[in-house]
Amino acid sequence: MYLRHPLLSSLGVEHGFGTTASDLRPTCLTACQVHGTKVLSSCEFRNCDGIPEGDGVVTGDKEVEIGVWTADCLPVLSATKSGTFVGAFHAGWRGASAGIVPSGLKKISGESRTPFSELVVVLGPAIGPCCYEVGPEVWEAIRMNSPGYAQLTERTLDLWGLVTHQLLRAGVLNENIGRISLCTRCHPELFYSHRGWGKQRGKRSMLNFIRPANDDRH
Ligand SMILES: [Zn+2]
Repeated sequence: MYLRHPLLSSLGVEHGFGTTASDLRPTCLTACQVHGTKVLSSCEFRNCDGIPEGDGVVTGDKEVEIGVWTADCLPVLSATKSGTFVGAFHAGWRGASAGIVPSGLKKISGESRTPFSELVVVLGPAIGPCCYEVGPEVWEAIRMNSPGYAQLTERTLDLWGLVTHQLLRAGVLNENIGRISLCTRCHPELFYSHRGWGKQRGKRSMLNFIRPANDDRH
């Protein structure tokens, strides 16, 4: 089972946010995630031995399905309004505070020649502000890289809030931002959670995938 969001479904974009009951998708293209801000084009995988490092992938090739792995970190799926160019990003506190999502959108925007106002972005299930306790180094990074973002408390981090703040500043329209605000730690029946599960069952992650729509629809 994968969770879907109407903002992306309405564009004809096949996608899903993983759960503990998701089937395998062996052809999905995923990078070797390192909590950075590098975003790859799907064509960059071709000239590469092994799996290239990156925390996001974008593609305009409708034969290609792309994705990111998460278990508490925030998965973000994005598409142009035409549905023909898509991206998937992995954002923990390091990547999120350093701006992986806006920099990934810049890549989509540049390669597809689409303004930010015509990008749809959906934030998936992640560890919520109810459970995500963080230290001062996290807020130091946020103040440095994402000035202007504030929360009532700095004991926790709201990844959804931080990334939404960055998206609005970058020019994404509020109506084009979707969210599945389910906390991965509060819902062990649905999600793997590195913090919640610890070493139990090993370090299992969930796949979040997206594929461009067929443009003959238009
Ligand atoms: Zn929670």
